[in-house]
Amino acid sequence: MTTPLQSASVESARPNAYALEVVDRICRALPPGTTGAALHEPSFTGREREYLVDCIDTGWVSYAGAYVERFEQRLARACDVPYAVAVCSGTVALQVALVVSGLKPGEEVILPALTFVASANAVVHAGGVPHFVDVDETTLGIDPAALDAHLARIADRRAGELINRESGRRIFGLLPVHVFGHPVDFDPMLDVAKRYGLFVVEDATEALGSRYKEKACGSLAPVATLSFNGNKIVTSGGGGAILTGDREIARRTHHLTTTAKLPHRWAFNHDEIGWNYRLPNVNAALGLAQLERLAPMLDAKKRLWRRYADAFSGLGGARIFSDASFADSNRWLIALILDRGNEPMLEPILSATNDAGLKTRPAWTPLHQLPMYADNPTAPLPVTESLAQRIVCLPSSPFLASA
Ligand SMILES: *Cc1c(COP(=O)(O)O)cnc(C)c1O
Repeated sequence: MTTPLQSASVESARPNAYALEVVDRICRALPPGTTGAALHEPSFTGREREYLVDCIDTGWVSYAGAYVERFEQRLARACDVPYAVAVCSGTVALQVALVVSGLKPGEEVILPALTFVASANAVVHAGGVPHFVDVDETTLGIDPAALDAHLARIADRRAGELINRESGRRIFGLLPVHVFGHPVDFDPMLDVAKRYGLFVVEDATEALGSRYKEKACGSLAPVATLSFNGNKIVTSGGGGAILTGDREIARRTHHLTTTAKLPHRWAFNHDEIGWNYRLPNVNAALGLAQLERLAPMLDAKKRLWRRYADAFSGLGGARIFSDASFADSNRWLIALILDRGNEPMLEPILSATNDAGLKTRPAWTPLHQLPMYADNPTAPLPVTESLAQRIVCLPSSPFLASA
C-alpha cells in the first residue's frame, strides 16, 4: 500500500543545499564528535541493574511482586493523580481506559488524525469506531475550535445522547493526544466536550512529565493513559498505565486487567471476562528505576531543545517546534517544522539526515490515509494533511544533552 509520503519520487529525495544545511545545524546541536544518533534511545544510569537483579534473586519476576505497586505509587505521584494501574503496553492501557470509561460497542470516539496508529487501534480493540478530527498547528493536538465547528455540523442530540447524523452512531467521547509530549489546549477542548456531553480519555502516552497550566498531563481528564515503550521518555521495556482519580474506575481497571479473579486463598472464581494485561514485576522494576530519574531527564530534554533552538535560529523556512504559552512540554520528540511552501524539502532532509546517520523521521502518515481507516468518519483535515508534509522529528535522546 503506498501512501502519499512513501510515493514521493526518488528524484525529489536527492539531498540539496538546504538539506545539507539542516544536517549541519543538527550536528551543531549535538555533542561534538557525534557520528550518528537514533531518534530516541533509553539510558540506564540509575538503579535499573540493582532492581532487575533483585527480581531474579528473589524469584519475583512475573505478575506479582513489590515493584509493580511501587511503580504505580510513584507514577500516581508524578502525575498528581490518586490511582495508577500498570499494564503491559500503552495500547492496552488505552483499550482498557475506554472500556472502564463506559464505551459501548459500535460507538464513535473522536481523536486526532495526526497520532500514532495505536491510538485508533485501541479504540477498535475496545469495540469503538475512530472518528478523526483536525489538529492545531501551535500544539499539534486537537483544535478545539475546529472540533466545535465539526460537531455543530454533524452531531444531533437525541434523548440526551450525541448522534453522528451521517453515520447514525452515538459519539461516546474524545481521545485527545499530547503529540510529541506537547499538551493539547485542554480547557477550551473540555469546554466543547462538556457542551456536547462527551466523555474524555486522555492519551498521555507521550507526555509523562509534561504540564498544562501547571497541571500534570495524565491528570487533566477523568481517565488517562501512559506508555513505557522502549522509545518513550521512561521505559519499562514495554508497558503502560491507566491513571484516574476515581476509586471505582481504578478498582475495576485492576480487576479487569488481572483476569477478573475474585480474591481467595485457593479458589479460581471470576465474575467478568477479564484480560491478562498486568505489567510483570521485572518490567515494573526497570520502569521504577527510570521513573526515579524523570526530573534530570526532563532537564536534559530542555537543554537539548535549547541547543536545537539555538542551532536552527536564523534558518529561513523552518522552526524548531516550541511550547505554547500554557505549556511545559517534556519535549519527548523535538521536531523541526517546515514553513508552508517548504514541503518539497521534507524528503531531501529525511534522506540527507539519515544518510548522515541521524535517524530523523517524518510525522506519522495521517490515520485516515491508512487502508484500514480510509472509510472512517472524519472532519475536514487541512492542518493534519499539511503538517504531515512538514514535520521532521530530530534525534531526541536525553543523553545527547550531556556533553
Ligand atoms: C506509544 C504510543 C501509544 C502506544 O503505546 P505502546 O506502549 O507502544 O503500546 C499510543 N498512542 C501514542 C500516541 C503513542 O505514542
